[in-house]
Amino acid sequence: MDKSEWTKSMKVRMAMVMTLSGLLPIAICHIIVFSSTGAPIEESFRFVPLYVPLLALLLFVNWFLADIILRPITQLLSATTKLVTMDIRQRLEVGAHEPIETHELRKSFNKLLNNLEESLNIQCQFVADASHELRTPLTSIQGYTKLLLRRGSNIDANLLAEALQTISDESGRLIRLVSDLLQLARADAGQAIIAQQEVVDMRDVLMSVEDTVTVIAPEQIEVKFIVPQTSMYVYADADRLKQVFLNLTNNAIKATQAGGKVTVTLRATGGQAIIRVIDTGIGIAPADQQRIFDRFYRVERSRTRSRLYGGGTGLGLAIALTIIKAHGGTIELESELNKGSTFTVKLPLTDTPVKAQVAGQTPLLPPQD
Ligand code: ADP
Repeated sequence: MDKSEWTKSMKVRMAMVMTLSGLLPIAICHIIVFSSTGAPIEESFRFVPLYVPLLALLLFVNWFLADIILRPITQLLSATTKLVTMDIRQRLEVGAHEPIETHELRKSFNKLLNNLEESLNIQCQFVADASHELRTPLTSIQGYTKLLLRRGSNIDANLLAEALQTISDESGRLIRLVSDLLQLARADAGQAIIAQQEVVDMRDVLMSVEDTVTVIAPEQIEVKFIVPQTSMYVYADADRLKQVFLNLTNNAIKATQAGGKVTVTLRATGGQAIIRVIDTGIGIAPADQQRIFDRFYRVERSRTRSRLYGGGTGLGLAIALTIIKAHGGTIELESELNKGSTFTVKLPLTDTPVKAQVAGQTPLLPPQD
């Protein structure tokens, strides 16, 4: 149905309803008054022809009234149909004298357009950042490959080793970047970033992180995991949680100088598992704290490309936040420059497997006493 058909049919229906609701009380009053005179009811039918011009008059008046009532809606309709062909940066004009309802509706449309424009800008920025991040390792790989081709078999052994090492490091960086991007793209597309959830003991997650971290952490940094004796169950995707805590602990180690400490603690308060990753490292300035969870944000680009742990992608914390939010949890940061940082993750505890059953999944049951 096109716009004019829509308004016409709406106007016709409105005029008819208004006419009927006007005519009905008149007819009822007519019958009541007539029957109170004691005259036979057939007598009243004599007046029926009078209703025809009355009906026509009411229809005519109500047609104009319906037009006046519906005018703001038809104007709004024509403005919103224009949206399809409009530039996303344009906005609907909000008239000062239009009824409050359509006024509000126009304002809501404009808010919607603001949000759309904002997310489009974020997407564009994301694509630009991602391209930039992809280009850096690719340029390096191309540079070294060209060098190898040029030198052929005359290449010095040290240079050959350096070239192959760089190509290997940068390819690893590309693989990490692409898999991080894929994870975020899936989350943006509404696909769950977490796979199958089950009842998980947070101690197991942290112990598995500890096993991985102690292998890669330098000896000069003391890395300690303090977990309680009792189990703490959360309803979660254990692999994704491990990814989060590996990222937080790796970041903490990267930010800590020799002789410093990284401590990971777990405790439960108020129905929540509280995990803290504390370091005595370089800390994060207040201005950077605001943006630390943004995609591709790095405080100090050169430092995070440390050879020891492979270059960071600047996506780790953005992914960590997405994963923790998907679990109904939060991440908070407290930090002081040159003193250290504490990342606090809070996750809702689950003490029975009920949640898992409700979700229609097969839970891993916590041990029953
Ligand atoms: P990356 O993969 O580059 O480490 P992240 O998103 O995990 O990306 O971290 C973003 C940036 O935040 C890091 O590059 C680093 O500069 C800073 N950062 C993260 N954790 C810490 C920390 N514990 N102390 C100091 N800086 C940190």
